[in-house]
Amino acid sequence: REKDIMRFRTVSGPDLTTRNDAYLAWQLDRQQAELWPYFRRYESAALTTRATVVSDTGVVTQGPNFGGQDYLSLTAHPAVLDAAHQALRDYGPLTAGSPALGGATPISKALETGLGEALRTEHVALFPTGWAAGFGTIRSLLHRRDHILLDRLSHDSLRQGAAASGASVEFFRHLDNEAVRRHLRGIRATDTAGAVLVVTEGVFSMDSDTPQLAELLGICREYGAHLMVDVAHDFGAMGERGGGQLEVHGILGEVDFVVGAFSKTFATTGGFLATPSASAREYVRMFGGPQTFSSAITPVQTAVALAALSVVTSAEGARRRTAVSAVATRLREGLTARGLEVMGDVVCPVVPVLIGDTPTGRTASGLIARAGLVAHLVEQPAVASDAARFRLQAMAEHSDDDVDTAIDILDTCIREARRTVG
Ligand code: PMP
Repeated sequence: REKDIMRFRTVSGPDLTTRNDAYLAWQLDRQQAELWPYFRRYESAALTTRATVVSDTGVVTQGPNFGGQDYLSLTAHPAVLDAAHQALRDYGPLTAGSPALGGATPISKALETGLGEALRTEHVALFPTGWAAGFGTIRSLLHRRDHILLDRLSHDSLRQGAAASGASVEFFRHLDNEAVRRHLRGIRATDTAGAVLVVTEGVFSMDSDTPQLAELLGICREYGAHLMVDVAHDFGAMGERGGGQLEVHGILGEVDFVVGAFSKTFATTGGFLATPSASAREYVRMFGGPQTFSSAITPVQTAVALAALSVVTSAEGARRRTAVSAVATRLREGLTARGLEVMGDVVCPVVPVLIGDTPTGRTASGLIARAGLVAHLVEQPAVASDAARFRLQAMAEHSDDDVDTAIDILDTCIREARRTVG
C-alpha cells in the first residue's frame, strides 16, 4: 500500500547527495507498478485537444487531452502563431536581460498597456512566470512590520512570497469572508500602523470555486487593508469581456494588486502584476526579486501573450469563452450523472473530480492512462491526503466526442480502481 509521500519531506542527515535515496527507491517502485502519474512526456503538441503522452515506463496514452491549460485553444491560433514568428524575426529569441537592464521591447510595452486596459488598472509589470509574479510582488511589497492574510488554499507562489517577506502571516478558512473580518479586527485591535494585505484567487483551480470578491473588497476597505487577487485561471477565460471574476463580481479596476499568469488562457509562459499604484509598480520592478534578477520574458512569449490578449478582448474571444463553458458544463453534468463527485460551484475551465484516498487515485490514474485519456491526478502535497482528485481542464476546441469519451473512461477506471483498492 501507498505510504504518505510527505514523510520524505522531513528526512534529515548530513549527506545531501544520499539522504533522498529512500525517496528515489519509493518513486521507482511506484513507477514500476504504474502508480506514478508524474513527469510524463508529450510526444505531440501539448495543448491540442487530442495528444500522445508517454510515461517513464513506456506507457503510451493517446486520446482526448484534458491535461492542458490552453483554455481558449489559442496555442494553435493562426494570429498567435504569426505574432510569434514575427517577433522572432524582429527581436530574436532572447531579451537582453531583466526588464531593468534592457529586457523590454516595444511589444512588452504594448502588452503592459493592453493588460492595463483589459483590467482597467493602469500600471502593469511583466514577470518571467505567473509564479514569479505572485511571489515577487508579495515578497517585495510587504515587510517585517506588516501582516498578510491568505486564503488557506492559496497557490504556492503566494504562500512562499508571504513567508519570504518577513511579515506576520495568517491563513483564513477557504472563501470565508467573515473569517477575514475577524482576523482583520484582531490585527487592527493591536496594530494600526502596519500594512495588511489580504490574498485570494479569482478561481481556485483545485476546487473550482470563487470568493465573494466584492464583499471581500468592502471588508478590506473597512479595515484599511489591501486586496490581492491572483487571476491566473479566470482572467481571459471568464467574464463577458474576458475580465475574469473581477468583471463577473463588478470590481474590475478596483483591486489594489492583481497578479496573473499567461500560462493558461494566454498561450505562453509569463506573468504580470497590475495595480493602480504607480509607485508600487515601480518599487516592485526595482525590488521584486524575479522581476529584477531574472531575464525578461522573450519577445516570442511577449508577442504570443499580446496576440492572445487581442483575441481574448474581441468578439471571437467571447465565442471561445462560450465554447469552453459548454465543454466544462457537459463534463460536469456527464460525470455527475454517472455518480462521480464534481467539485466546486462555478462553471470554469477547470473541472475537478474528487476521488478521495491517494491509493485509489493512483490506481485510477494508471488505468486511465492505459485507456487513452490524458488527465492529471492531483494529490498531496497539492491537496489533502484524503482529497486526491483528477483536475480536468476544458479547452474551447474540445468536441462533444472528446468529452463523452473522457466521461466513459473516467467512470469505468475510477469504478475499477475503487473495486481493486477497496
Ligand atoms: N497562480 C495560480 C493560481 C496558479 O494556479 C499558477 C499555476 N498553476 C500560478 C500562479 C503559476 O503560474 P505559472 O505556471 O505561469 O508560473
